[in-house]
This record gives sequence, C-alpha cells and structure tokens, in this order.
Amino acid sequence: MKLKHLLILPVLTAVGCQQMQQGKYDSYDDYPVVKGDWEEMTYTPQSTRFALWAPTAEEVNVKLYAAGEGGEPSQVLALKPGDDGLWHTMVEGDLNGQFYTFDVKVAGNWLGDTPGVWAKAVGVNGDRAAIIDLNVTDPEGWEQDTRPSLKSFADIILYEMHHRDFSIDSLSGIEHRGKFLALTEENAKTALGQQRTGIAHLKELGVTHVHILPSFDFSSVDETKLDQPQYNWGYDPKNYNVPEGSYSTNPFDPAVRIREFKQMVMALHKAGIRVVMDVVYNHTAVTEGSNFERTVPGYFYRQTPEGKFANASGCGNETASERAMMRKFMVESVKYWVEEYHIDGFRFDLMGIHDLGTMRAIRQALDEIDPTIYIYGEGWAAGAPQLPADSLAMKNNIDQLERIAAFSDEFRDSLRGPFGNDAQGAFLAGLKGHEAGIRFGIAGGVEHPQVNDGEHQVPKFWALQPAQFISYVSCHDDMCLADRLKATMPDASLEVRKALHKLAETAVLTSQGVPFIFAGDEVMRDKQGVHNSYNSPDSINAIRWALKKQNRDVFDYVCGLIELRKAHPAFRMGDAKLVREHLEFLPGTEDNVVAFCLKGQPCGDTWSDITVVLNARDEATTLTLPEGSWQVVCRDGRIEPTRGLGTMQGGKVQVGARSALILHR
Ligand code: CA
Repeated sequence: MKLKHLLILPVLTAVGCQQMQQGKYDSYDDYPVVKGDWEEMTYTPQSTRFALWAPTAEEVNVKLYAAGEGGEPSQVLALKPGDDGLWHTMVEGDLNGQFYTFDVKVAGNWLGDTPGVWAKAVGVNGDRAAIIDLNVTDPEGWEQDTRPSLKSFADIILYEMHHRDFSIDSLSGIEHRGKFLALTEENAKTALGQQRTGIAHLKELGVTHVHILPSFDFSSVDETKLDQPQYNWGYDPKNYNVPEGSYSTNPFDPAVRIREFKQMVMALHKAGIRVVMDVVYNHTAVTEGSNFERTVPGYFYRQTPEGKFANASGCGNETASERAMMRKFMVESVKYWVEEYHIDGFRFDLMGIHDLGTMRAIRQALDEIDPTIYIYGEGWAAGAPQLPADSLAMKNNIDQLERIAAFSDEFRDSLRGPFGNDAQGAFLAGLKGHEAGIRFGIAGGVEHPQVNDGEHQVPKFWALQPAQFISYVSCHDDMCLADRLKATMPDASLEVRKALHKLAETAVLTSQGVPFIFAGDEVMRDKQGVHNSYNSPDSINAIRWALKKQNRDVFDYVCGLIELRKAHPAFRMGDAKLVREHLEFLPGTEDNVVAFCLKGQPCGDTWSDITVVLNARDEATTLTLPEGSWQVVCRDGRIEPTRGLGTMQGGKVQVGARSALILHR
C-alpha cells in the first residue's frame, strides 16, 4: 500500500489517551492481558456466552437484534466484570440467527454500538456481529481440503489479484463476476476466442500462490448497494476476522460470505494453488468510532507525544503491535484465518509499522501449525512510526526476521523507474546505471561480491536468504507494467513494449528471490495510465480478457518462464551460500546488459551452466561465452523450455535488441 487513500484526512482531535485510562492504570503496559482464548461470543444451541475485553469500562452492555441492520434491540443485557479485563454474560436458549453489538461506557460516556474486535460473523456492512454455528458454513468436502504441497519457499511463484479486476470483465466468461465464487468456476473461457480465464487461466499460467487483495471485511464499499458500481482495493479494515460482504452473493446472510470464501479456498487448493491473504493490521478505516476505539479507547493505537493519534500509515492512525493485546490480536487473527479458512500465507500491508517482536511471534505461531505458511510484507511505512526504526519490521531489519520476506523496491525501480515519477524509466527504458540494481535482484538481495561495481552500489544487502526477497516489477500500487512502459517510452511501438514486457518478466522469473506477478501483467493488462487506482471504476481496473488473445505471445512467454523456473532448481537455489557459489555475473558486458551464469548443476539441476543475458539496449549486444556447443531455450522473445530452440556455438555471441538469451550445456 502506498498513497492508497487520497482522502483529505480530518484534523484529528487530541484523544487525551492518558485521561481515557481513568487513573486506573498508569500506562498501557499495566492493562491486564487475556491469558487464554479471546472469544467474544461462544454459541451452543443451549446458551450463548459473551465476553468483551474492556479493562477501562465502567459498564458494558450487549444488545441482541433480530436483523443485521435497523430495528430496536430485542434485549439489552449487562455484562459483569471479571478477571483479565474481561466482562461476561451468558444467555440461555438458542440464539442462532440473531445479531449483537456491545456498548461500552468509559469515563461516563457510552461509546456506541460495536460488533466488538473479534466478530467472526457479521450482518450487512459489518455493523453487527452475528450468532451462527460456524460448522454449517463448511462447504461439502471441506474436511478433505488440504494445502497443495510445497517443499521450499524458494519454489513459490506469487500472483497478486483483486477479485473484481480478475473476473468483472463481461468477456471473462465467469458467472459470479467480481465474487469469491468466480474462483470456483473451473472451466471459464472467453466467449470469443475461447481463451481460458478464471482458475483455468491460473492453472495454465502455473503460479503456485494466489495473493488476494484485502478480503476481510472493509468499509469503503456499501454492501447494501451492490447493484451500483463500486470499487475499492479494500485497505480500509473494519472487521479483521470476517470475509468481505461485497465479494459474496448475499452480504445480508452472515453464513454466505464465510461459506463462499471457503469454497474459493477449496477450489484453489484443488487446482494445486495456495492462497495468500493480504492483511492490513497497521491501521483501521476510521479512528474514532472504530471497533478498537469503541472497546478500549486509545489502547490499540499509538499516540504522538502530544497525545494525538499517530499516523505512520498515512490513513489517519497506526496500530500499536508492541502492546500485549494488539500483538495477541494479530497472532490470533492470522491463526484463525489458517485454522478456519485454510489460508496458506500472509502479505502484511505496511509491515514496517509493526514491531519485530510481533512479527516473530506471528512466524512462531504459524510455524507451530505449518512451517510452509509463507509471510512477506511491505518493509516500509507511509510516515515515521512512533517506535525506533531499528525495532520495526522494516526492509533493512529483515535480517532479524528469519523466514519473513519483504518486497524489493530496488529491483522494481531498477527495472522500470522510481515510484515518485511515472515518466522516469530505468533499465528497461535503456537508461544506464541501473545494472547493479538488476544484479541485486537476480541474486535475491543476498550479499554477493559481484553486485556492486565501482560506480554503482546498492544501499544494503538486506536479505539473509533469497526467499526473504520478493522480486517484482509491478503490483496493484502505482502503474502496472504496460502503463509504465508507455509512460516512460511514449514513442515506443507495441512491438517494442511487448519485447520489454517479456524482458522484465524474464528478470523477475530468473531471479533467486521469490517472483511476484501482478494479475494481468501476463496479458499486458493496463489501467489506462492511472497510478493510484484504489477506487477507480472497473473500466480502469478490470483485466480485459480480450487482451489474452491479442497478446497471446506475451502470455505464452510468461508461461514458458514459469515452466522453466519450475523445471530447473538452479533458478531457485533457496540458499544464500549456494547463490554465492553458483551465481556468477559475466564480466565485460556493455551498458544496459546484465548476464549471468548458474555454474555447474546447482541443486541437482539437469542442465549445466545455465546462462542468461538480459539486453535492454535498442541494438544487439555481443559477449563472449566459453567455446563449445550450447542448447538455446530462449531467444529473441521466444522461449521453449522443453523442446529448446536449437544449438549455438560458444565464442562471440550476439543477443538481439531488447531481448533475453537463455542457454545451457
Ligand atoms: Ca464490508
């Protein structure tokens, strides 16, 4: 997430959090901590138990409602204070199908209805929590659902997708367009041209993980008005532990979004694809009036020295992961998504806002369930967080976060140009001086003696292991690759842009880091030049599936790169020592050319001395390879990982303009 909210933020009132504590506690560290389960509602057909952690409350009520919106409460019940700051009550009888909110009184003020911080089911727009039996939300076959196998993080190929982008186009051939269920339709094809879409497209492409943009309940889309066009990326969390209603076929029925989310996960698993959730614990959509503020004012957010809400997210607030109950919240929330929804990985939005200890606690908790669950995030923040930089999960501290990865903006920017200036290109645009950044990306961000040259240095080798490094050229933030190439090379023909598109994907998919593809880049999707499309209409954000036929050669090329990577462990050694031992950059290349050899047969590869030349020049380049016969698999914008493209003799070798050469012995 970067600049996702262009909203003008209201001037925040000083909350006076010290006053909120009512003299009961001297600091947030003194608040009692829930030791066992943190369940706000426990349902059985005989009775329902409510429990809210609200240590500063003077009174707590729970209100029962017949519907998810409107009407008066059928009952209002007072909770009694207990240990650990928890307030309790038990209601006899079967409350299945009813809704509830809490109302908390602090410093003489009732804070207003909230579904609590731990609602697991909600009514429309997530305003009221719902009492349901979660067991009935399991789709048929859910007990047999298992994660597709994954031997090593180094084997991962990520595909970042927004539900609407992926399936809303009327040509997608998908029935449940823009919904979770779109990813359950196994045989979707475009009406014209019969190109596969949906899950069949993903299988054809060969990615191992789908990373879904925020799919927890967010606030920006009005779920009561789904007949009207609405679009948002969803980086505005409301209920962290419930799926978003607008992606379900019926947001009014609390069970439907839960069941359909599970159906989606199950269908992807059946297709051999793991599912990564984009999680946004770093801020909430609103501050005053958020579920956190209506439960324990001040506690879940950091404050500035002046007592105002801190704002390192750029979205009005920043959460306080270092406080015991916020940390517990994050740990239990990710565990819940794994256990209830079978999620296989997490992408942390603005991970740099979270403290190192919390990220380690999350890694440990997930390792106890399944160590193949992958964690990565944005190793930065939108502003300076309130904690010292060396205590945060920033990119430069990734060496202190074993088995957690971060995005490499260095590799991205060295390929396509800087975030701050869309018209400025880099390596792909034929500008020199970016070769060190490309070598850094190829090495997966680990220390390597040949990355820096006399003239150019990367700021820091921040990855200890290559699977801690996400290699990418574009993502949902800012321009997608097709738009960026147009912006940086306005005079380039379609043919030139296609060639550069392929070259960019070659760099990403031959990197020792974990490759990441923005959905639709494989068919050269565009966003009509819009940089921050967080709330742009479908006409901007939708992948237009007619492109798959038009740019079929690009799609086939990306498929070929993925096939190549999956078949050859040399491209994903997964170990920094092996990378330093086997990855050798070839000396004496011209500006705008990076060439490397994966010496020998690393990780038991069937090929020897795989050599890759990335030539971004607008003319051919010549380099010298060892004498002898070489098998060519990629040349002049064509790739044939299995059949090959014939042989070539060593010595002086030419590589065509704006293209990659891949060969082996
Ligand atoms: Ca919502």
